[in-house]
Amino acid sequence: MPSPKEVVILGGGVFGTHLANKLASTLPRNASPIHITLINARDHFVYLPVNLRNSVQDISSTYIKPLDPLFARNPSVGKVKVGEAVSVDAERKVVVLRSGEEVSYDILVLALGSSWSDPNLMPTKYEEVLDYFAKQRAAIKKAKNITIIGGGAVGVEFAGEIADLYPPSSGKHVTLVHSEDLPLSKLYRDKFRSRVKDMLEKLGVEVVLYAKGTNNEDGTVTITPRDGKEPYTLRSDLVYSALTPTPNTRILPDEWKDEKGYIRVTPTFQLESDSSVMAIGDLTNVKEVKQAAKSPGAIAVAAPNIVSLAKGQEPLKRYAGALEMIALAMGKKTGTGIGQMPCFGQVIFPSWFIVKVKCGDLLAGRMTKVLGLK
Ligand SMILES: Cc1cc2nc3c(=O)[nH]c(=O)nc-3n(C[C@H](O)[C@H](O)[C@H](O)COP(=O)(O)OP(=O)(O)OC[C@H]3O[C@@H](n4cnc5c(N)ncnc54)[C@H](O)[C@@H]3O)c2cc1C
Repeated sequence: MPSPKEVVILGGGVFGTHLANKLASTLPRNASPIHITLINARDHFVYLPVNLRNSVQDISSTYIKPLDPLFARNPSVGKVKVGEAVSVDAERKVVVLRSGEEVSYDILVLALGSSWSDPNLMPTKYEEVLDYFAKQRAAIKKAKNITIIGGGAVGVEFAGEIADLYPPSSGKHVTLVHSEDLPLSKLYRDKFRSRVKDMLEKLGVEVVLYAKGTNNEDGTVTITPRDGKEPYTLRSDLVYSALTPTPNTRILPDEWKDEKGYIRVTPTFQLESDSSVMAIGDLTNVKEVKQAAKSPGAIAVAAPNIVSLAKGQEPLKRYAGALEMIALAMGKKTGTGIGQMPCFGQVIFPSWFIVKVKCGDLLAGRMTKVLGLK
């Protein structure tokens, strides 16, 4: 039997971990055509969607998990390597780590995610991450006025989480500033976006729309209305940016990226410019909303294609996209969602359904199970 091909998965977040688990749980023991090295900067897995609630109340143990169980059932198939990649040498087919170590690959899968800001800008060591969130909680508890700039899904959920735990009667005032005339993007029906606005306002959040927020870094935020009205200033003890993140591709070769820094992939998830490299998750140029929820569809394509590549066969599975769907949790008791349904267009889900399905543990239990970390 030929020796297994070395598959390096770069990034142990949702997509990288999901892929590693899928391969580890389906490949034959001791006769696998591939050996996997999952490289992750963190010594643990973090399910990002829970960061927002963890910034107001401590639920770290539900979603910050060791990566050890991944290959426990099939150790000959792969291993986890903790280390920060600083570059990829595509000619020599090596990933270079900050420690100076080089990890060789036959097939490389990029899954480095996005570059976020607080409260999603955690350090890499487990103990430091716990401390980071403890500090977020202390700062939020202390602040009287909190401003969140950016009313996409992350901004909406963050405002909701804070207001749910600290209603106006607690003396805290949460302001959400968004550049559009309703929260979220125009991708979603106005009726749904209006509902989100109403829900936030019911929680006591002040929603400032059609305006740009600028953090002056001096305890104030300048609000510039887009309709030409005079700019004004808000006092704010704490300011968060929830603007659209950028792809985390700084360390990767420029020839792999499009003009916005996303990795250019074909429907097989191989790179247009190098067929031995694949990319999955937030950093790809696939035209869809970047979501953890997209991982099952992507992994169903990427995993068999990797095995085909390793066997010297043509990867045949092609990603055709997923129906857009979003579920928003604004604390434990308020939620809403919308999904694209064949023949029906965008359908708004009943709020009780989203509260039941998502608001409890934010799907952390289900996700860590799917990823093989339970
Ligand atoms: C606050 C928040 C709320 C969200 N809510 C939802 C939601 O409700 N539903 C939903 O579907 N999606 C949601 N998302 C989006 C979802 O979390 C992402 O789409 C998903 O995590 C992307 O997975 P990924 O594997 O591409 O990247 P990530 O999960 O970000 O994983 C990237 C991994 O790469 C590692 N890494 C980065 N740089 C290096 C390096 N140089 N060397 C080694 N390792 C490195 C990181 O440590 C990390 O483990 C939310 C995101 C945020 C931030």
